[in-house]
Amino acid sequence: MMARRWVAETLFDGVRLAFEADAVLHDSTTGHHRLELIENSVFGRMLLLDGAVQVASADEFVYHEMMAHVPIIAHGAVRDVLIIGGGDGGLAEEVLKHRQVESVLQVEIDASVVELSRSHFGMFNAAAFADPRWRVEIADGAAFVRGTDRRFDVVLVDSTDPSDTSAALFTEAFYADVGRCLRPGGIVVAQCGVPFLQEAGFRGSMQALARVFDTVSCYIAAVPTYFGGHLALGWGSHGRAALDADVDTLSRRAANACRDTRYYTSEVHRAAFALPRYIDTALNEA
Ligand code: SAM
Repeated sequence: MMARRWVAETLFDGVRLAFEADAVLHDSTTGHHRLELIENSVFGRMLLLDGAVQVASADEFVYHEMMAHVPIIAHGAVRDVLIIGGGDGGLAEEVLKHRQVESVLQVEIDASVVELSRSHFGMFNAAAFADPRWRVEIADGAAFVRGTDRRFDVVLVDSTDPSDTSAALFTEAFYADVGRCLRPGGIVVAQCGVPFLQEAGFRGSMQALARVFDTVSCYIAAVPTYFGGHLALGWGSHGRAALDADVDTLSRRAANACRDTRYYTSEVHRAAFALPRYIDTALNEA
């Protein structure tokens, strides 16, 4: 193990957030990212890519439960799920808690993220990575959706914030390809950053979704390691039925898969679409 140190995440000009590394478990550069893995006394085991926190064992449940359960329960009859990115496996774990899900295809660009997460985040991804319904393909998610003729009920875009590697995953062309990959009634949910700090990027993603889908919305989650207020999860679908599902319907559908959740409840699901005005304004002006 290397010496104790602080790892600072420079979020934007003028904001830097630091985590003390009780231990540095890994530090390498892959073909796509700088990959760091540290232990922190508050957030547990943390994965950083290019200096940005991706996942922490203590609070991963917030992001992964909300990204998986909201669209799957709203849809009500999901069989096939596509995850773009998400190489840590935390999202696949939540998706696979739904017994009606028959297949999860994960398209992740960086094999090292999957391998490192397999050996260090077994506390939340071991079941998913051993599940026969889960399959990983190492490829660029944008190229995958452009070329595939497979169809899915839900597509989850669990990407890094826009970078050279991931910028294509926030564009209209990408969402149009995702739209083609969705069966009727299908839903896409995409990580769209923290609007307080990333307003321009948030608006851009919402605009791109709105050019492709007739129903576009966004819901929020409070993820402790994502600094700057609520995280926004963008929603795109054709038709509003899933988006408008009432709390009794959600709660009936959630009864099995969501018994042991720590963040998701059907009430939180509905409430998450009630947006603070500054986010609602940005969404509606998009
Ligand atoms: N929840 C996280 C966040 O926003 O902080 C995202 C976590 S997950 C580890 C992000 C993954 O997206 C990374 O493993 C990265 O390799 C992957 N990724 C980035 N660009 C991609 C692309 N073009 N195609 C597929 N995967 C991509």
